[in-house]
Amino acid sequence: MQTNIPSILIAPCGINCGICISYLRDNNRCVGCNIELPPKPKHCLNCKIKNCFERTNGSHFCFTCKKYPCARLRQLDKRYRTKYSLSLMGNLNEIMNSGLGRFMEIENTRWVCPICGSPICIHNRKCYHCGGVTIKSSSG
Ligand code: SF4
Ligand code: SF4
Ligand SMILES: [Zn+2]
Repeated sequence: MQTNIPSILIAPCGINCGICISYLRDNNRCVGCNIELPPKPKHCLNCKIKNCFERTNGSHFCFTCKKYPCARLRQLDKRYRTKYSLSLMGNLNEIMNSGLGRFMEIENTRWVCPICGSPICIHNRKCYHCGGVTIKSSSG
């Protein structure tokens, strides 16, 4: 089984918004970092990484930046590694090395509910489609 999360849901910092609790839940949803539409939580609208202008002209991901990985990104990466066993810089490095298309192929096999095939939330390991909870280690 695999999920069908589109690449537009990969944020500049390496977060996959398609497995974010704010994206998956029913109430007060966020549409994803790259979608320029309301509704969005305030902390995402004000995100300093999303709104950073240090990236090379026209490029999307932080690894194109001369300062990569800056302290802010390293801090977010550390939070995700500690709390959710996932390295955002690991995601970014995979995209940099293998390309976004290949990353999505793999990413869509990583966060799959074994019961129904929908995405599993990284923040609570829950499937918002069938309610199943999965104990799963990270993508690294
Ligand atoms: S809350 Fe942040 S990480 Fe989650 S879907 Fe929105 S932009 Fe993405
Ligand atoms: S890595 Fe570069 S583009 Fe990304 S948040 Fe840091 S300074 Fe900004
Ligand atoms: Zn499920």
